[in-house]
Amino acid sequence: MVERVAIRGAGLTGLSVARELLRAKPDLEVSLFDIRPRYPHPQRTFCFFDYGETELAPVVAHRWKNVRFQGSCFERRVELPSAPYTMIAGDAFFDTILSELDVSGARFRWDCKRIELDNRMIHVDGESFTFDYVVDAAFDPSVASSTLWQSFAGIWISTESPVFDPTTALLMDIQESSQDAPASFMYVLPTSPREALVEHTTFSLRPMSESYHLSRCFEWLERRGILSYETGKGERGAIPMGLHRKNNDFAVGTNAGIVRPATGYAFLAALHSAKLVAKNIVSNESIATNLYPWWLGIGDHLFLRALRNSPARGAELLSGMLEGAADEDMIPFLAGKATFRQALSVWLAVPKIDMIRALTSL
Ligand SMILES: Cc1cc2nc3c(=O)[nH]c(=O)nc-3n(C[C@H](O)[C@H](O)[C@H](O)COP(=O)(O)OP(=O)(O)OC[C@H]3O[C@@H](n4cnc5c(N)ncnc54)[C@H](O)[C@@H]3O)c2cc1C
Repeated sequence: MVERVAIRGAGLTGLSVARELLRAKPDLEVSLFDIRPRYPHPQRTFCFFDYGETELAPVVAHRWKNVRFQGSCFERRVELPSAPYTMIAGDAFFDTILSELDVSGARFRWDCKRIELDNRMIHVDGESFTFDYVVDAAFDPSVASSTLWQSFAGIWISTESPVFDPTTALLMDIQESSQDAPASFMYVLPTSPREALVEHTTFSLRPMSESYHLSRCFEWLERRGILSYETGKGERGAIPMGLHRKNNDFAVGTNAGIVRPATGYAFLAALHSAKLVAKNIVSNESIATNLYPWWLGIGDHLFLRALRNSPARGAELLSGMLEGAADEDMIPFLAGKATFRQALSVWLAVPKIDMIRALTSL
């Protein structure tokens, strides 16, 4: 019978697993250990295509009815009647989940120097504790290895005059590829005619510096004639695309494959996997979960491999796919909800000769 559970890593997945455990079994003793402090919360926004995540409604910051993609030779707007692109502010999300955990009696140990797992034991800064179950939700991008990295930094800006359309999120304005960064694009999330989060993202061999990304943001604004604005908070991140996973029976979260390799989306997968993991722990089963169908994994890995092998073709491959795929196939594909037929139709939109050349490095 499971009575005491320890979770290493109190990030998105660790906190979500703790919450689901205490919802499923309120008398459980759940302890979380992290090397970070409780505050400030990680500076981030979480976006996703919302197919009806009603529990998240109170923390939604903005919804977009349309998304736009563009490159040097195409521009495309897709309406989202049934799955608006939705933003959650990290602060609101982390406040809500931590409050619920405080009320339900979860125990926290923040700011730890070193946390080691050893079967059912956890060693923290010279002390050792034994649990019925130990879960590893820790992830540190600085020690991870991956086929590519989704590296990004951005900044909130407020302009004097109205320059943005708050009904439309610009998911990708594709820029030239380079040897280090097969894909490079702007991501712009306007929340009002005068306010937007402006980010530059690369799919690159290694995370790029914050100053590199921010200078691309400022150049992009200048090219659009947006010269008069104030800057606010920023966000920066590096998400593994095709993480080289180590054998770890206790792993959940990023180390257990919640990040969709070809897109970097992980937020909804983290919440869904937390429910499955908690159910398995409460019924004393293995915590392993499969979030994506195997064929989606193969397609994603081929795409990443092509970008890595042939960085100069990145913009062409990405543009071909985003220009050619049908709306009704592309959005479920990006959201990780595509059927095999929908995924196939998106893959077929990728320029085939370029893809074969990229995969074979010709
Ligand atoms: C800035 C940013 C924006 C993102 N935006 C989106 C988005 O819009 N949509 C989307 O779907 N996904 C997004 N993601 C991707 C994804 O949702 C996140 O990476 C998600 O946080 C992964 O959850 P996780 O629990 O695995 O890792 P994390 O939330 O990163 O948690 C890992 C935890 O492990 C802790 N830790 C690290 N090392 C140790 C150690 N040695 N011992 C103990 N604890 C340790 C860390 O302090 C952290 O608290 C974003 C990621 C970032 C970084």
